[in-house]
Amino acid sequence: MDELGELKKIDREVYLLRHAAAVLGWDQETYLPPKGIDERSEQLALLQGLAHERIISDRTGELLDKLGSSRESPRGRYGTADLDGAFLRAWRRRYDRAVKLPKELVVRLARAASVGQAKWAEARKASDFPAFLPFLREILDLTIETAGRIGYAEHPYDALLDEYEPYMKTSEVDAVFENLRRDLVPLVSRISGAPQPDDAFLYKDFPPEAQERFGRRVLDALGFDRERGRLDVSAHPFTTTLGYDDVRITTRYNRNNFAGALFGSIHEFGHALYELGFSKSIGGTILAEGTSLGIHESQSRLWENLIGRSLPFWRYWYPEARELFPDAFGSVSLESFYRAINRVRPSLIRVEADEVTYGLHIILRFLLEKELIAEKIAPKDLPEAWRNLSGELLGIVPENDAEGVLQDIHWSMGAFGYFPTYALGNLYGAQFYSALRRDVPNLDDRIAGGSYSDIALWLESRIHSHGAALTPKELCEKIGGGPLDPSFFIRYLEEKYGRIYEL
Ligand code: MG
Repeated sequence: MDELGELKKIDREVYLLRHAAAVLGWDQETYLPPKGIDERSEQLALLQGLAHERIISDRTGELLDKLGSSRESPRGRYGTADLDGAFLRAWRRRYDRAVKLPKELVVRLARAASVGQAKWAEARKASDFPAFLPFLREILDLTIETAGRIGYAEHPYDALLDEYEPYMKTSEVDAVFENLRRDLVPLVSRISGAPQPDDAFLYKDFPPEAQERFGRRVLDALGFDRERGRLDVSAHPFTTTLGYDDVRITTRYNRNNFAGALFGSIHEFGHALYELGFSKSIGGTILAEGTSLGIHESQSRLWENLIGRSLPFWRYWYPEARELFPDAFGSVSLESFYRAINRVRPSLIRVEADEVTYGLHIILRFLLEKELIAEKIAPKDLPEAWRNLSGELLGIVPENDAEGVLQDIHWSMGAFGYFPTYALGNLYGAQFYSALRRDVPNLDDRIAGGSYSDIALWLESRIHSHGAALTPKELCEKIGGGPLDPSFFIRYLEEKYGRIYEL
């Protein structure tokens, strides 16, 4: 076997080990009986350990050296074997990140995060930040050490961000978020000053069986392929890939909330469609992955918000929703329904935020975690810093830490660098949607007619098929017509909410 063939064999084994672990993880979140958790954790740790050993083995390093791979190499340096270039680049990145971290540090961080999550859950329940503080300190120290080991050119946060948004620098996020903040803050205050639509009817009685039936009708129409995927129920909705032809999504039903399960399902469908759209030529390899979390989130937000919360979409679906839920919607017009599902109100909790204020929640977290990693702010000062920023950005201040600094699980898991990708997803999504609108004529008429196949085909050929063969930057240049530009998102918001709120 030649060297490239040998690396591809290692790649295949890692791919299979990761998917085997994903099966166990999916089962844990959906059907695992509570007492099965101990052995399940051991099974998962074993599989992850086996994959890690293959990634950092001396042989993998030798092969990458001999094949002349580089993290920065452009595609195409291997001539016609374009994908081999992308394959080597992706492997070099994976290997370099993994090999720089001593096993002992990885184990210490994993343990601290596992304890940290439990302590965070208790502390949040009691709204007691000081109880969580020593555990946060330990996780943070280990994370700062991790960033140092991985290395960075400008800012230690770069090393962490790169895990989730490859090749993006902290300074780039700074610039993009500064623009976003400058435009979002006045837009939110204009909206807050306008009369609010009534949305009480969205919180009436919606029997879960009827919600599920309706949600499945919508997913079928959008094109969720049941021969290659499943929808199940879990406490926290997610998407996970178990194989090239097996992508699972989950949702949860709340009897007194129409929007939660439905838009959650559409969101996860967007993630699933990405995972189901990788071309056969990269299937089963390291390249059969979303190229970044930000790009992944662009796909879920595009379906959930740009399509799913649009007026044309509900021109098609509202009559059916009304028939299914006559008590709630019988006397509500399409226009009133549309305004209600798009109601904007600054709130304390990120996961409940609307699409306008959402970005401000993310900017707040980004500013704080960047300073934490650079050791410019001490963990003990977080609650106060949180309150100050919340007042500046959202105009509201949490009265307790459960609704403030303790609300998210991410820091307790050591997932520093993750938050920005949520907001980047909205920005990439709007930029791609503008290109889609240019390329697919009569887009709104298609959506109003319940026809989504041209949208799905466009997304597949332009975005999904490439998987991680294109970096996020390359993809954005190629499909979005230039570097990431928040003005697409802002224009979309101004137009949509200018009409809804008559600004
Ligand atoms: Mg998502």
